[in-house]
Amino acid sequence: MPRETVRGMRAHEYDLDPRFARLVPGRGMVETSPVVCPAGHQIGGGRMTVGGFTCQCSQEASDTGYRIWTCNECLAVLIHPACPQRPAFTPWEGAIS
Ligand SMILES: [Zn+2]
Ligand SMILES: [Zn+2]
Repeated sequence: MPRETVRGMRAHEYDLDPRFARLVPGRGMVETSPVVCPAGHQIGGGRMTVGGFTCQCSQEASDTGYRIWTCNECLAVLIHPACPQRPAFTPWEGAIS
């Protein structure tokens, strides 16, 4: 069985917490994403820009990559997981349901 990948990340390395990624029949692993920005704007349905980066900090995610979501309205940035080198980004707590 080939490993499932999400944008180059191997599933066993990715955060499989259901708040952040879920297995969907027929689609494989699908990332969840925020629906409200830190300022309260509704950002579901493509009203945000999804990105990601790696960095040089000591977090485990510095290798596997951070996910960031930028509100198209106010450019506020949500990040998962939190990065100590990006204090201006608001850590996202994940999908509630
Ligand atoms: Zn916003
Ligand atoms: Zn970092």
